[in-house]
Amino acid sequence: MSKKTQEIWSYAPAPESSKVVQIKEKYDLYIDGKFVKPSSGKYFKSINPADESEICSIAYGNEKDVDLAVKAARKAYDTVWSKLSAADRGKYIFRIARMMQERSRELAVAESIDSGKTIREARDIDIPLACNHFFYYAGWADKLDEAFPGRKPKSLGVVGQIIPWNFPLLMAAWKIAPALATGNTVVIKPAETTSLTMMILADIIHEAGLPAGVFNVVSGYGDTGASIVNHPDINKIAFTGSTAVGKIIQKAIAGTDKKLTLELGGKSANIIFDDAPIDQAVEGIINGIFFNQGHVCCAGSRLFVQENVAEKVIEKLKHRMASLLVGDPLDKNTDIGAINSKEQFDTIQQYLKIGVNEGSEIYQSPCNLPKKGYYMAPTLFLDVAQSNTIAQEEIFGPVLAIQTFRTIDEVIQKANNTPFGLAAGVWTDKGSRIFNVSSQLRAGVVWANTYNKFDPASPFGGYKESGFGREGGLHGLIPYLKFD
Ligand code: NAP
Ligand code: MG
Repeated sequence: MSKKTQEIWSYAPAPESSKVVQIKEKYDLYIDGKFVKPSSGKYFKSINPADESEICSIAYGNEKDVDLAVKAARKAYDTVWSKLSAADRGKYIFRIARMMQERSRELAVAESIDSGKTIREARDIDIPLACNHFFYYAGWADKLDEAFPGRKPKSLGVVGQIIPWNFPLLMAAWKIAPALATGNTVVIKPAETTSLTMMILADIIHEAGLPAGVFNVVSGYGDTGASIVNHPDINKIAFTGSTAVGKIIQKAIAGTDKKLTLELGGKSANIIFDDAPIDQAVEGIINGIFFNQGHVCCAGSRLFVQENVAEKVIEKLKHRMASLLVGDPLDKNTDIGAINSKEQFDTIQQYLKIGVNEGSEIYQSPCNLPKKGYYMAPTLFLDVAQSNTIAQEEIFGPVLAIQTFRTIDEVIQKANNTPFGLAAGVWTDKGSRIFNVSSQLRAGVVWANTYNKFDPASPFGGYKESGFGREGGLHGLIPYLKFD
């Protein structure tokens, strides 16, 4: 960091206290309304990526545990949950939302410690949005007939849900809230590196008095997830994670009558036209790729800048990158926290090498990284070609690949030249251009003059290898319902 920038951007540390969360030594499975030991007796460690310390042990559920959870969920569906009035179902979900709000500080700190994301993002984005999803879907529970007039919506039964590690509690909320609101019962598996907030949520749901078996957590590794996918008595699988695992799941359930939604990876285009408000666009680029250490499925990881403003945009971008504070996730000043795991850290470093070897120019903002923990400087690549690996594959880290363009047709073609289709951003002063470009981009979400905006009322999902099905909004109810 230059001396001048350092002077401007040095802050006294402002650490959030970790005392608000009492982390237990061990977390068990939550099955049939009880916290139970895994049948294998095995637990695995959860690591704090900020300092590589051990946080706690998490139960490693296997096929037998999944079977117990599915049986409990089936019984709860048949005997209680499907018999309950929709209004009462809604009340339970409201209660969960309120209790999450009451414990929001604890949830934010736990999420930050477990995942490496900054406390600022956990506190201001992840946790409030997760609560809002429960509030939002609580409201739909008794209005399904109004949502789908004349179509007689009915619940499916038992749903199996598998989620990733980048937004642990938020992804849990995206899955659980609509499933319960539509009258289904749930068996869910968190990602192995980030089970902590799911276990706190299980505690909240237990306290909320949800009937036993309606909600079950089986933590574990990929094979635990596979046991959920392959269980014969599950009616629907909802998966968020990598495209590679998504493909395995789709093959696994082919030929069964399980319903499926897949929310997979992305390589989203953020497009800056020469008439865009440049300073706002630079903030949008920063938010697009460095938010949550770049561990964002819809991250604006491919930047397209119109050639005549490219120099100016890149200069401003480098300047802004130098002001980003990388370090302790629990410090309220921190902009970029820790990479979620050693494994993901190594994957990103591999991509940096590939980028350089394939001929792109790398730039990393000068910053002091803590000695322990998985940290990396915000990174961008210049001279990137469409065919380069770093322009085609999802890196899932704070790494931006920059390309330039001259015409609208060219940028649309380049932006769509990807196996993915999750999101995109368009920055321009002209409303007509926004409509023209966004209608031609093959992406589930297109943001105009903003990026990474989320709301429970707004559907989210992909095209092509980014998956299918929508989560959020009225559309997010459909995958959990059948119609006459
Ligand atoms: P991942 O490796 O695919 O894992 C996702 C979940 O699936 C984890 O709980 C994982 O367990 C489990 N799993 C692994 N192998 C499995 C198998 N064979 N059968 C069933 N489940 C299995 O993805 P990730 O690395 O955790 O997450 C990053 C990916 O998620 C990125 O590609 C990102 O783009 C995507 N994502 C998409 C969205 C969206 O809405 N489209 C949102 C967020 C993230 P383990 O943790 O034990 O491996
Ligand atoms: Mg962890």
